[in-house]
Amino acid sequence: MYDLIIIGGGAASQSAAMYAQGKQLNFLLISEHLGGKVEPASAEGRDYMFGKMLIHYDGPDDEESDEQLIGSSVVHQFERQLKHLRDRVLEDRVLSLRQDGTSFEVETSASGVKQARAVIVATGAKPRRLDLPNVADHLVANLGYNTTHHSDTLRGREIAVIGATDEALLSTAEFAQSATKIYLVVPNLDAAERPELAALATLKNVEVLQGYRVAEVKGEPLGRKLVLERDGTRRSLTVDSIFIDLGYEPATALVKDLVEQTAEGYIRVDRRNATSVPGLFAAGDVTRSEGEQVLTAIGDGARAARSAHFHVLTSLAASAVDAAS
Ligand SMILES: Cc1cc2nc3c(=O)[nH]c(=O)nc-3n(C[C@H](O)[C@H](O)[C@H](O)COP(=O)(O)OP(=O)(O)OC[C@H]3O[C@@H](n4cnc5c(N)ncnc54)[C@H](O)[C@@H]3O)c2cc1C
Repeated sequence: MYDLIIIGGGAASQSAAMYAQGKQLNFLLISEHLGGKVEPASAEGRDYMFGKMLIHYDGPDDEESDEQLIGSSVVHQFERQLKHLRDRVLEDRVLSLRQDGTSFEVETSASGVKQARAVIVATGAKPRRLDLPNVADHLVANLGYNTTHHSDTLRGREIAVIGATDEALLSTAEFAQSATKIYLVVPNLDAAERPELAALATLKNVEVLQGYRVAEVKGEPLGRKLVLERDGTRRSLTVDSIFIDLGYEPATALVKDLVEQTAEGYIRVDRRNATSVPGLFAAGDVTRSEGEQVLTAIGDGARAARSAHFHVLTSLAASAVDAAS
């Protein structure tokens, strides 16, 4: 029986593994793909493939990036260390997770069932796609999902932000400090009452377009033209970049019937990253962690591993007391 099984191979899981290794826990990290959403270190330039999508990321670590710490560099450093811990990493898909008394059973696709006293779920989340055939599966440098990482590159540009999530509104406020013009497209009329929208509409370079749905994304290269539609009327915008932030779909299939979730479907955790089930912890994008960035996922993973360590120590102590009495 393992002390701890970590499900996932992204920033949160790898940081949890580093913490577990430091505490000499008997742990196993199980993931289909080590690295999660962070691009492989060998990627060329600043674009990389994520499934079928071409993503513009914050760049692989190279000599220049030694001067600035970026999230992907930290994950690559973790990966290099994990490659030396072969027995601790299993590349496999987890099919199910069950609670068995005070321990857990983790069923994998190719390596059977593994048992552990504690489990950390860090299976991530996928950005909700724009439902248009030419963009649903496709990302390019000037059409991106996720608004939170690019404000430094937008000086003097005209951009469109689609969505009214907290991140979309916060990023619009941030972009407004450097971009020339921001069209904030809010398809969902339910968001109309949000005070942040009224505040953003007072900024000189922000135009809020409420109730518009995105009818087409066009342009050469793709993502320079946006056709919007409201009540049968169309409006066309030409921009330098489009950011889509319609929220995320957390990968919670393994724990759907096991732990409490938030109204948006994220795993609910407390400030120790503990779920509603004792011994089961969650970290990173699969929880409603504020930030949704590599560095915040790293913090989450370490905190979850610390809590799991504490759980393992207390459950071992309780078993020893039971055995002695
Ligand atoms: C388009 C885009 C651009 C981004 N750009 C940046 C950026 O520039 N800077 C930044 O800091 N952040 C960026 N982010 C956010 C960042 O990528 C995430 O916050 C971070 O990767 C979250 O890490 P995680 O470990 O929680 O999840 P993930 O990295 O998503 O990892 C989840 C892991 O779980 C594994 N997994 C899932 N289900 C199973 C299963 N059943 N069995 C086994 N394994 C499973 C997956 O294979 C994967 O390894 C971006 C996100 C997106 C979508």
